Amino acid sequence: MRLTVLGSGAACPPAGSNTSGYLVEQDNHRVVLDCGHGIASALLRVRPHFDIDHIVITHMHADHFIDVIPLRFRVTRDMDGVPERRVTLHLPPDGIAALRDVLRAVSFPEDFCSNTFNVTEYDPGQPLALGPMTATFAQAEHYIPAWSIRIDGDSALTYTGDTAPCPDVAELALGSDLFVCEGTLMEPETGPVKGHLTPEQAAMMACAAEAESLLLTHFWYGTDLSDVQRRAAAHFDGPIRIASDGLSCDVNGATPR
Ligand SMILES: [Zn+2]
Ligand SMILES: [Zn+2]
Repeated sequence: MRLTVLGSGAACPPAGSNTSGYLVEQDNHRVVLDCGHGIASALLRVRPHFDIDHIVITHMHADHFIDVIPLRFRVTRDMDGVPERRVTLHLPPDGIAALRDVLRAVSFPEDFCSNTFNVTEYDPGQPLALGPMTATFAQAEHYIPAWSIRIDGDSALTYTGDTAPCPDVAELALGSDLFVCEGTLMEPETGPVKGHLTPEQAAMMACAAEAESLLLTHFWYGTDLSDVQRRAAAHFDGPIRIASDGLSCDVNGATPR
């Protein structure tokens, strides 16, 4: 299994970076996890023929899904869609209604995506078959309903999406070869509502998950990435890497290329 980072930024990413998006490949089968702004362009740079099988969305914040709209135009510019649909768009629970509201707000037909993609909502309580890979889910701790995703194939990857410290997410990630974890905050949240992690909290989640290696991601503009690495390293003994757009690695062994 191979991972390519398409976007490593948070809602307002660093200059030149995209927001959330990850390409996971195994045995000629391709899954995109999240599709925030910038991801349509980044994905078409690495897969110009858009030979993607599945898109899975963790939650309906713009920095995790909004580029499904431009990507849909990659299949056809015809507003009426296509008769044969190859790409399946897996939205979280209630995601279909949320997408419909967004399409209406930007003056596109409500079926703009569903007439071109197979649009469905996943059941987070059930495994989801993605060709040779299987996705399982745990509800994250975020400002809106959000799910973390584990992908099992010839190796195991867990992607947190957006989350505050969350035992269920650490349990989902147990023994993962690669834990792709957000490290968004420079200071921990103190209010009653929490939704993100500091690098220290991310590293502690990786430790609780007994992950083999940690890839920190989801950075705001202005983040000091060397500081992120240093702060995480105090809490996790395994290899730690900082995500950057375009980084590609084997999930098992996480060799950069
Ligand atoms: Zn986000
Ligand atoms: Zn979010």
